[in-house]
Amino acid sequence: MLFETLDTFGHEQVVFCHNKDAGLKAIIAIHNTVLGPALGGTRMWPYESEEDALKDVLRLSRGMTYKNAVAGLNIGGGKAVIIGDPAKDKSEALFRAFGQFVDSLGGRYITAEDVGIDVNDMEFVYRETQFVTGVHQIHGGSGDPSPFTAYGALQGLMATLNKKFGDEDVGKYSYAVQGLGHVGMEYVKLLKERGAKIFVTDIHKDRVEKAVADFGAEAVAPDAIYDVDADVYSPCALGGTVNEQTLPRFKFKVICGAANNQLSTDAIGDEVVRRGILYAPDYAVNAGGVMNVALELDGYNRERAMRMMRTIYHNLTRIYEIADRDSIPTYKAADRLAEERIAAIGKLKLPMGRGQTRFQGRIRS
Ligand code: NAD
Repeated sequence: MLFETLDTFGHEQVVFCHNKDAGLKAIIAIHNTVLGPALGGTRMWPYESEEDALKDVLRLSRGMTYKNAVAGLNIGGGKAVIIGDPAKDKSEALFRAFGQFVDSLGGRYITAEDVGIDVNDMEFVYRETQFVTGVHQIHGGSGDPSPFTAYGALQGLMATLNKKFGDEDVGKYSYAVQGLGHVGMEYVKLLKERGAKIFVTDIHKDRVEKAVADFGAEAVAPDAIYDVDADVYSPCALGGTVNEQTLPRFKFKVICGAANNQLSTDAIGDEVVRRGILYAPDYAVNAGGVMNVALELDGYNRERAMRMMRTIYHNLTRIYEIADRDSIPTYKAADRLAEERIAAIGKLKLPMGRGQTRFQGRIRS
C-alpha cells in the first residue's frame, strides 16, 4: 500500500525518523530532486494517526516540487512532519535528534520552518546539521519572509491585472483583503501606496483598526468580505475560502492573494473560470517566502531577494500564456508549467551538481 502511494505521487524517498529517548517521531518526504536539493519546511502537528501524518507529508512535499519549479528555483520539493503538540512536546533533544536525521541525508533535503515551528526550534536543528534555512539572521538567515511574500504577491497582482484588464495600474482598482497578519498588512500598505481603494477584514479587531487608521481602508465584518463590490479578492488568511458557499456571492473579477490552497476543490477552480473570474494560482503568487529562504543557500542578500520577487510577474504571465495555449484553467496551467520545466531540465541529464544549486552547508558562525 505504501509503495503504491509513493508510485502515484511520484516520491523519490521517504524517511521515517524515530528516537525513543528524545520522543521523536517524524517523517521526511523527498518528492523530486531533478531541479536540485529538496527544500521544504518542517511542520509540527498533533496528528491523530501516523497515516494522517504520512498523507500530509506526501501531499505537502509534492506541492513544494511544483511551487519551487514554478518559482524558477534550482530546487526540488520536500517536506517533513514531526508528530507532536507544539504547545507541549518541544524539547532541545527532540529537535537535535531530528537535525541528525536531516544531516544523514547529506543535503538531499534542506529544511525550514513551517506551521508549529519557530526560529528557536531551528537553532537546535542547526546544531546538528547545516542543511537548514530560516535560522537566525546572525547565522546568515534571511529573517521574516512576510514582507517579501507581500511584495511578490504585488508582482503577481500586476501581471494578473494586466491579463484581465490590459493594464497593471494597481491604484485604479478596488480590493477586498481577507487577513491582516504578517503578509496581509504589508500587502495593504503596498496597495495604499499605489492609491487603491481597499476593504479589509480580520478576526482580530485591533488589526482591522490599524488598517483603517494607517491605510484608510474600509472595515468589513469577516463573513461580509465575500459580498464586497470590489474588483479583486485577496485572500491572505486561510485556505479553502473560494468554495461552494462563497463563490456564488462573488462580484470580484480577479482572485489574487497570498493564502495557500485558496480553491476548496479543482471543481471550484473550473467554476471560477465559468464565472469569468481570473484566478492567480496561489503557489505562484506567494512564492516570495520560498524564494527568500532559497537565497540563503548561496549567501543571502536582501537586494537580490527584492529583485527576485519581480520574477513572480513573469511566472504569472507564463501561466496565463499556457492557460490560453492549452485552453485550461489557470490552476492547471501552473502545474503544467512546473511539469514542463522539470521534464525539460531532467532531459538535459546534467552531471550531478552542474546547473543546480550546490549547497555545501551553511558556513558556521
Ligand atoms: P498570519 O497568521 O500572520 O496572518 C493571518 C491573519 O488572518 C491573522 O491576522 C488572522 O487573524 C487572520 N484570520 C484568520 N482567520 C480569519 C478569518 N476567518 N477571517 C479573516 N481573517 C482571518 O499569517 P501570514 O504569515 O500573514 O500568512 C497568511 C497566509 O499566507 C497563510 O495562508 C500562509 O500560509 C500564506 N503564506 C505566507 C507566507 C509568509 O511569508 N508569511 C508565505 C507563503 C504563504
